[in-house]
Amino acid sequence: MSTIAFKLKNLREHIAEAEQNYGRAAGAVKLLAVSKGQPISNLQAAIEAGQRAFGENYVREALLKMDVLSNFNLEWHFIGAIQTNKTKPIAEHFAWAHTIDRLKVAERLNAQRPAYLPPLNVCIEVNIDNEPRKAGVKLIELTELAFTVASFPRLKLRGLMAIPKLRPTFEAQRIAFKKLRIVFEELRNQGLDLDTLSMGMSQDFIAAIAEGTTILRIGTALFGERIKK
Ligand SMILES: *Cc1c(COP(=O)(O)O)cnc(C)c1O
Repeated sequence: MSTIAFKLKNLREHIAEAEQNYGRAAGAVKLLAVSKGQPISNLQAAIEAGQRAFGENYVREALLKMDVLSNFNLEWHFIGAIQTNKTKPIAEHFAWAHTIDRLKVAERLNAQRPAYLPPLNVCIEVNIDNEPRKAGVKLIELTELAFTVASFPRLKLRGLMAIPKLRPTFEAQRIAFKKLRIVFEELRNQGLDLDTLSMGMSQDFIAAIAEGTTILRIGTALFGERIKK
């Protein structure tokens, strides 16, 4: 078994165990393999071990990997910062974009999503710790943006995404995730049909499972350190 296959198996076991420990349904948490900065051979090892969903942050790097791996039926998620001049390739080549953080980006993705593809699955990124210079909408801007994005025909608003500050303890990690879960539930109570909380990374994924994540975005815990760009 390759190292990556071994780590993937371990991760799946940890996820299943945490689902059980925190009262989550079995299989409720999906693992997105974050492959930015990883060589193709690492993605191939994960594919051989059954992984199908991959997260990428840089359009050019992602398109190259999609091309090389086009024989496999993979699901590509864009999880990097979205520059307005990159919305077209994202709309054309990805199944998901997790990082909508302003109206302009949503409008362009909606206009550029090709008619032959199903609507692009999207999440709104929330700056949950209200950090200066951090991506994501502020909580006070969230409701209006969410209702607008939900009305766009070529986008399917699935939920919310956040990258909280890294906190040292499990209990502290839970607090930020809980905050995101509460605003997610508020939006659902206001009538939005959302099913996705994209939260939890290598360092804090158990806390995210405890607080209701549905998509973990995991890179280094699966693939090891990234190649520096
Ligand atoms: C890089 C990245 C990840 C993965 O981080 P790890 O700590 O390597 O698991 C998850 N989400 C986003 C948005 C990222 O940019």
